[in-house]
Amino acid sequence: MGIPFVDLKLQYSLHKPAFDEALGRVCASASFILGSVVERFEKDFADFLEVQEVIGVASGTDALCLALEALGLGPGDEVLLPANTFVATAYAVHRVGAIIVPVDVDRESFLLDLDSAARQLTDRTKAIIPVHLFGQACDLDAINAFATRHNLVVVEDAAQAHGARWAGRRVGGLGAVGCFSFYPGKNLGAFGDGGAVATNDAALAEKLRLLRNYGSTKKYLHNLPAGNSRLDSLQAAVLNVKLAFLEEWNRKRFRAACRYRDGLQGVKNLQVPIFDPQKPERHVFHLYVIQSPRRAELLEHLTRAGMSAGIHYPVPIHLHQAYAYLGRPRGSYPVAEKLADTILSLPMFPEITDQQVDTVVQCLRDFHG
Ligand SMILES: *Cc1c(COP(=O)(O)O)cnc(C)c1O
Repeated sequence: MGIPFVDLKLQYSLHKPAFDEALGRVCASASFILGSVVERFEKDFADFLEVQEVIGVASGTDALCLALEALGLGPGDEVLLPANTFVATAYAVHRVGAIIVPVDVDRESFLLDLDSAARQLTDRTKAIIPVHLFGQACDLDAINAFATRHNLVVVEDAAQAHGARWAGRRVGGLGAVGCFSFYPGKNLGAFGDGGAVATNDAALAEKLRLLRNYGSTKKYLHNLPAGNSRLDSLQAAVLNVKLAFLEEWNRKRFRAACRYRDGLQGVKNLQVPIFDPQKPERHVFHLYVIQSPRRAELLEHLTRAGMSAGIHYPVPIHLHQAYAYLGRPRGSYPVAEKLADTILSLPMFPEITDQQVDTVVQCLRDFHG
């Protein structure tokens, strides 16, 4: 029996009546755009995040694009972001016409490294986008202090970290804005695309509501030039069902991570994620990422044994053809570049069984032992 990377079919089958009922209600109401189901999700997700406002949008990418636009970032503005992230973090900066400034990452946590960020500062640096990569909360105390010192706005990319906390507070609510994705495989995922922006700034929230909906306050009256990026009601209905399980699912992910950690202890040449098992709130394990110097062979070994694995991400931002225009050659970000060659993401989802984790562990031990 193979082991999937995530098991969304299983998750659906376990909660089928709740999903079908919620979706059926939206269909029967024929209220598909915005409306009460979306409003309820926005309110409940805001309560969950302990923020004032949540604005549902069409994707995590749009959440980032609209957040940057609402903050007034544009041509000439430089934006710091980690070199090892999903490409959307960088694309959003490109999209608003601002300048992508990749920053190297920390060797242990793989998160944005503030020393590297400090070296990239210029008088045009306007914003910093910490990415809570793999589900780990970035040190927002340090990042906010850095941002205050250098007059930068903090845009959190929390697309992989729904529910994680830093110093007791939920990520996504710690900077000027927090951006979330509800891509199906995320810790909180829809049955299609979706995203959200979180903020405690009422004026910014109002602007974001305009930006996602043709700049419109009233039908056919448009205050701002803007397009269409709304969270739709069917996705919101799914998210309303799933939000109730998010904490439990995150706990199960953490438990699986601890089991991987125990099982993989002492395996030669294999580096496991460094985290504090006493602080489950800091890491919601969107991904469990190991490092191996023989990554290609290891991936083949796992695949042959019917186990799925992934690489997040095989190419750092500055080495993509799309962003070659940044003019940052290989060697610019040594830690991110090394990670890209050695990291491997193991199967991780709330419903993963002890037995499945143990099977993956055994397979890794066979290979590296
Ligand atoms: C998934 C993801 C995004 C983009 O979200 P989409 O909903 O796929 O557009 C942005 N940043 C990070 C770190 C992500 O993992």
